[in-house]
Amino acid sequence: MLYIVPTPIGNLQDITLRALETLKAADAVLCEDTRRTQILLSHFGISKPTYRYNENDPRSVDRCLEALKGGKTCALVSDCGTPCISDPGWKLVKEAVAAGIKVSSLPGPSAVACALAGAGITGGAFTFLGFLPRKAGKAAKLLAAAYELNHPVVIYESPYRVVKMLELIAKTLGENTPVIAARELSKVYEEWLRGTAAEMARQMGQKKVLGEFVLIIDRPAQPEREEDNEPDPYF
Ligand code: SAM
Repeated sequence: MLYIVPTPIGNLQDITLRALETLKAADAVLCEDTRRTQILLSHFGISKPTYRYNENDPRSVDRCLEALKGGKTCALVSDCGTPCISDPGWKLVKEAVAAGIKVSSLPGPSAVACALAGAGITGGAFTFLGFLPRKAGKAAKLLAAAYELNHPVVIYESPYRVVKMLELIAKTLGENTPVIAARELSKVYEEWLRGTAAEMARQMGQKKVLGEFVLIIDRPAQPEREEDNEPDPYF
């Protein structure tokens, strides 16, 4: 049995009771980085064998799969948040499903859901692109195509590249494109920045940027249309 276990994105108190129970009951914990996971496990007084899961190494995927096929209960974790969401895990899940191994995905912390919920811009559709490709041309193409769908576009970004990314957003989608930058979610220095892509790039470019970011790219406010105020027949 394979359990996918989300872990906190910044605040250890965000671990769920079920995540703790699952980690305690597992035969082994499959980790992105065993040292980071050991810190988490010891914080909660859990002692378990940990094994590195390296998605890019087929032998590592096979080893984990063998353990599962041998009847072991494994908990898959990543360094933060939900495994498989811009994090390793999907190949093992795919192989486990194909091998008829039961997979259970626990709900829990993920930066994309946390940022969107606090953005106050949509309760419906959005496009999540995770980390955009490193090459500016490819990133711009993907961004433009996603923005065409008329939904907010959500991306992950590191502090080292966030200014460059905001500049790319301004260049590709327009300087006045509204952006919400959710920084250091659930941590002491959690911060929500709201503004246009160009202005935010200018402001952030003036000082050293720290922390992890979720960028939510919104659309400029549209004048209200009459049909938007018509009563919804389903309400
Ligand atoms: N699996 C994780 C999840 O479920 O959100 C994502 C892991 S991905 C490697 C790491 C990226 O997630 C960071 O570069 C950042 O963009 C975003 N992220 C993670 N923790 C965050 C936090 N506390 N505040 C803002 N963004 C965060």
